Amino acid sequence: MKKIENTTLYIQLVVGVLLLAIFGLISNYYIQLISIEQHTFYNVPDYEKRFTEYKDTEANKITSYLELLKEKKQLQSLFKESNREKLYEVSKPIFDHLNNNSDITHFYFIKPSGEVLLRVHDKYRYSDIVHRYTFIKAKENLIPYHGLEFGMKKNYTLRVVHPWIVDGELLGFIELGKEVDKVINSLSGELGIEIYFAVKKSVFDNSPKFVQERLQKLQSTDTQYIVYQTTDIPKNINWLINGNDKFNWVEIGEQVYISHTDYLKDISGDNLGTILYLVNITKEYTGFTATIWRYGIIMAFGTFLMLVIGFVFARQSQHRINNILESLDIERKNVENLFNEQKHLLSLFDKSDSILFKWNNDEHWSIEYVSNNVEKLFEYTKEEFLNKKIVYASCIHKEDIKTVLQEVQSIKKANLDFLKHDPYRIVTKSGKVKWVIDYTVTQKDDSGAIKHFIGYIMDITEQKNKEQEIQDKLQKFINTQSSIVILTDGKTLQFANKTFLEFFGYRDLEHFKKHYECICHRFVEQENFFHLGKVKEGEAHWIESLLNLSGRQRVVSMLSDSATPHAFSVSINKYEDVYYVVTFTDISDTMVEKLELAKEATIDTLTGLYNRVYFTKHISRILEDHKRSDMISGVIFFDIDHFKRVNDTYGHDMGDYVLSTIASLVKKYTRDSDKIIRWGGEEFIIICEIDNGKSLKDIAEHLRSVIQRHKFTNMDSITCSFGCSIHDLEYDILHTIKEADEKLYTAKDTGRNKVVY
Ligand code: GH3
Ligand code: MG
Ligand code: MG
Repeated sequence: MKKIENTTLYIQLVVGVLLLAIFGLISNYYIQLISIEQHTFYNVPDYEKRFTEYKDTEANKITSYLELLKEKKQLQSLFKESNREKLYEVSKPIFDHLNNNSDITHFYFIKPSGEVLLRVHDKYRYSDIVHRYTFIKAKENLIPYHGLEFGMKKNYTLRVVHPWIVDGELLGFIELGKEVDKVINSLSGELGIEIYFAVKKSVFDNSPKFVQERLQKLQSTDTQYIVYQTTDIPKNINWLINGNDKFNWVEIGEQVYISHTDYLKDISGDNLGTILYLVNITKEYTGFTATIWRYGIIMAFGTFLMLVIGFVFARQSQHRINNILESLDIERKNVENLFNEQKHLLSLFDKSDSILFKWNNDEHWSIEYVSNNVEKLFEYTKEEFLNKKIVYASCIHKEDIKTVLQEVQSIKKANLDFLKHDPYRIVTKSGKVKWVIDYTVTQKDDSGAIKHFIGYIMDITEQKNKEQEIQDKLQKFINTQSSIVILTDGKTLQFANKTFLEFFGYRDLEHFKKHYECICHRFVEQENFFHLGKVKEGEAHWIESLLNLSGRQRVVSMLSDSATPHAFSVSINKYEDVYYVVTFTDISDTMVEKLELAKEATIDTLTGLYNRVYFTKHISRILEDHKRSDMISGVIFFDIDHFKRVNDTYGHDMGDYVLSTIASLVKKYTRDSDKIIRWGGEEFIIICEIDNGKSLKDIAEHLRSVIQRHKFTNMDSITCSFGCSIHDLEYDILHTIKEADEKLYTAKDTGRNKVVY
């Protein structure tokens, strides 16, 4: 048997579960990552906008200071007079105040020509011409201008320039500025992000010496940028400034950031370098890694648990499957054994004289299977049967097919499982007749209907022939016996010898059996003899009764063919099973009682019918019986028409012949319960058990027509006249008989051959 392999199963299990876990982990990692990115990345561009907004707000603030400055009359007159010293004195405290409170770092008074009258923040530099974009634009359009712009000293500054117009006259321009790092600082603080301005080194080329000196203080990178910041900055932001990626994940020290770069532009639109925003996402990132770790641990634990459970389940299923496989294997072996055994059994048939058949339950019993030796008996080959060239029913002898059919019908009707057929004959291919016995079992489908018959057929022809031979010999032997010899089970006659047939005047036993089933029905009921009336309760049949009697009492009387009473002594020998050989030895001649016999006889010798002695003896019992079975008694009286003429024309013997013939006709066409009595010469009465008057008339009418139609030898037809009467229990039976006799005479008087009721 092939068992399921453990290792493969477990490896499959582990690989499957691990793949699942890894996939889960990775997908979770990316889902988390994406969610952080969603959260932070796309907020970053917002900072650009807010930076611009912030810048504008700062500019507005500065504008409001400027509006105030422009209103001051003292400043107006001092500027008009170009009184630099005095102007400085008055504006210095204002600058200091603005510097302290609002980080204002630049304060200019500029003449309409562009010449600087006074730098309040740097009083020793003056009289130079301003060329900055903000100034030029303000001068051009005479409206305030602001923007981020470098100055002479290469300070990157948020500048606000206002034309100073008093009473419609342009006095000059006032400019306030705030260095950008101040803007950045306050913005960074407000937004909680870091912003770096990286200015291209080339911007500073050809700058004056003091500018170069100032650059030393700024953070120079190893690339072509200078970060516009004096405080220390994390080292590794260079690559972010240089890189082309607009967004990046950055880890700096313990902190995690998302970086975003944008162009740093002058107000005039010149590209000065890069603005770098760094958004600190350490908190989110820590949360993220913690989640990943937690998830990882749960995953690992889950994986382990799945593996353990999977292992247990796999083991269980494997056990179960192996058990099933084992039982299947056993079953297969059993089936194999059974099959081999069946093959052996079937081969036995091929070697024996019995033939195994499997018949289909169809109309003619076609053959589903037959053993190879079928040809030996039937001469038809196995193939001829299997190809349905020959059906089984057509092999059965014509005279036996009806019996076999009946037996099969009975098996179906009674739903039997088994049947042993009575031996029957089959006809072989060449026309030989053979005797077989046939044992059949039925094979039913789930609904209980018979599908097949399976059985075997045995050739018993030889045995049958031997039996016949023995039987013939036995017959011959028994026929030599002068006594009557019969074989019977006490109920039916199986066999009888020649003496039997001669005594009762029958051609053969079948003929006798048409009238009497048992010889005992011929026993004459007489006191001194054994007859059926003497069978006692508890005795199975007459043979048992006789066996219970002493030898001397085993005597019966029977009437011969010519109605002569004979006395027989009976000897009984057990044959086999339930059968007895019964021998009747005629002892009439030796009986002293022979004369008594005649006297006591209740049977009329000429007709074999009952006589008046019988009537007298038994009539009261007969009427009693009718009454007990709730029936009524009827009397039919009949007389042969013109019988004298028969005697006169054909002689007395022919008269006797007519009498006995009519007697046997009447006997034949009446029931056993109808008692026929020869009442006088050619007059008869019948005592009938009937349920109504009509049936009495019908009996009489039937007898009348039977007699009329009978062909008597060498004679014209004979008729009879009938009178019928129902017996009234209040009267004597003789009264009823007289009534019937009167009816008969009415029939005679009114033309004969008729029934009067
Ligand atoms: P009906 O139609 O009126 O009966 O006319 P019938 O000639 O039959 O007249 P009836 O009954 O009087 O005749 C009876 C005759 O039957 C008288 C007798 O010779 C004859 N007979 C009576 N017993 C026997 C018998 O045992 N054998 C023979 N051969 N004849 C018998
Ligand atoms: Mg008559
Ligand atoms: Mg008469």
